[in-house]
Amino acid sequence: MTSSLTADSRGIILPCPACESANRIAYARLGQKGRCGTCKGELPFPALPVDITAEEDFTNLIAQSPLPVIVDFWATWCGPCQMMAPEFTKAAGMASGRAILAKVNTEKLPGISNTQRIQGIPAFIRYTGGSEAARTTGFQPAERLLTWAEVE
Ligand SMILES: [Zn+2]
Repeated sequence: MTSSLTADSRGIILPCPACESANRIAYARLGQKGRCGTCKGELPFPALPVDITAEEDFTNLIAQSPLPVIVDFWATWCGPCQMMAPEFTKAAGMASGRAILAKVNTEKLPGISNTQRIQGIPAFIRYTGGSEAARTTGFQPAERLLTWAEVE
């Protein structure tokens, strides 16, 4: 059981629950359910955090997603970030189909931290329509995070 999804410059990679084939859901189509390219079964909405590994992927996700994107900026050395990880995963499941939750490792992607002016972590930014709509910092339970993010 994986605890996160991967992505590339074009979309989120979602394993089919029926046949386990990897399907790419284009960022622009995250608001609708897709069909598996192999078995044609309906794919669920993403229900796990998306692990961002490249600046281009981050930029495209934020710019193209029709759903709000909530990003967790974290680092391995940060204790509260470790405590937050299972809550963020839980929140991704609760918000499935209504928001995309993504994680940015600030040590691996310092360029994103700089452009987003991240200071204390964990930091959370909600992006809507390609731009920042709200931000908060510090550990919080999944329910509180989603209330803050206005994803009920
Ligand atoms: Zn399939």
